Amino acid sequence: MSNDVLVIAEIREGTPKKISFEMLGEGKRIAEQLGGSIRAVALGHEVGDAASSLAQYGADKVFVADDSTLENYTAEGYANVLANLIEQTQPALVLLGATTTGKDLAPRLAARLGVGLASDCTGFAVQDGELLLTRPIYAGKAIATVKQAVRPYMATIRPNIFPTLEIDPSHEADVESIPADAGDIRAKVVDLIKEAGDRIELTEADIIVSGGRGLKAPENFAMIEELAKVLGAAVGASRAAVDAGWKDHSYQVGQTGKVVTPTLYIACGISGAIQHLAGMKTSKYIVAVNKDPDAPIFKVADYGIVGDVFTVVPVLSEEFKKMMAEG
Ligand SMILES: Cc1cc2nc3c(=O)[nH]c(=O)nc-3n(C[C@H](O)[C@H](O)[C@H](O)COP(=O)(O)OP(=O)(O)OC[C@H]3O[C@@H](n4cnc5c(N)ncnc54)[C@H](O)[C@@H]3O)c2cc1C
Repeated sequence: MSNDVLVIAEIREGTPKKISFEMLGEGKRIAEQLGGSIRAVALGHEVGDAASSLAQYGADKVFVADDSTLENYTAEGYANVLANLIEQTQPALVLLGATTTGKDLAPRLAARLGVGLASDCTGFAVQDGELLLTRPIYAGKAIATVKQAVRPYMATIRPNIFPTLEIDPSHEADVESIPADAGDIRAKVVDLIKEAGDRIELTEADIIVSGGRGLKAPENFAMIEELAKVLGAAVGASRAAVDAGWKDHSYQVGQTGKVVTPTLYIACGISGAIQHLAGMKTSKYIVAVNKDPDAPIFKVADYGIVGDVFTVVPVLSEEFKKMMAEG
């Protein structure tokens, strides 16, 4: 068993997603404390450039599994390739993103290897050579510190929590091709339909403007979209807004929606139910606009505006527009 940390990179259309670099940054810190190296694995088709990017963001070694059967993610195919790699290289810790793909892949991989899985981790510490992992539980009401009994340790990490390392174009990794045998995949991807437009992905957004039932009608989301446009932000929604059919489920933030950790989260006409907070409480700065001064959202907000969204949001858009124009 080595002391290395293995990052399962997430690659979309040949480019690693930001979470891959975040895992490398945190993984390198852990590897240094364990006395091992930081390694990454790139799975897909024509992922050579992705392997170089992973090296530039700190990976000392990059395993590459390149095959047309891996072009589209399938839990079975990816787990088959990864289980072999992990069995052969015996890393101390395997990291995946707590993303749609990572949440699907990690449990299958852990079960295949007969190891534990700590999901949605927000902190890591090494104590006496043992790894302690922190993760929010009970919809974020408590924080648990867990120690896994069996190596390799395996964890998914929450996006946007850990900083990436500075890119170093001169940093090279030892690149090794590994067998890309996806095996007999029982479920095949027959088509991928992209959502229209250049919508900013909620889980990767640095700024999110969300709307809730306080908006009263679907057309009033236009002012949320306007504010988001001014700020270069993604648009989110509470479940009440989604259940009312004002936005589709891909916009939902919360326990049964997406977990987001932007630098700035602006909640407009959202009460702050525990299930909503579970999805956005770890945002760096939270701003709430609500006409009810006792709304629970104000308990987690860094800045609260007690007022009517229909008055406040357009003013915010106007003022931010002026600020942006001034640079
Ligand atoms: C198992 C389970 C899972 C759930 N998962 C999720 C989830 O993933 N995400 C989620 O969001 N919810 C989830 N919920 C639902 C959650 O409990 C709340 O019902 C929901 O978050 C409420 O949405 P809201 O804040 O938009 O609406 P409300 O609670 O109705 O709040 C609307 C707010 O708008 C304010 N308001 C009204 N008019 C104005 C105005 N003109 N100007 C300013 N403010 C105004 C009101 O004061 C109020 O605070 C879940 C519930 C359950 C049981």
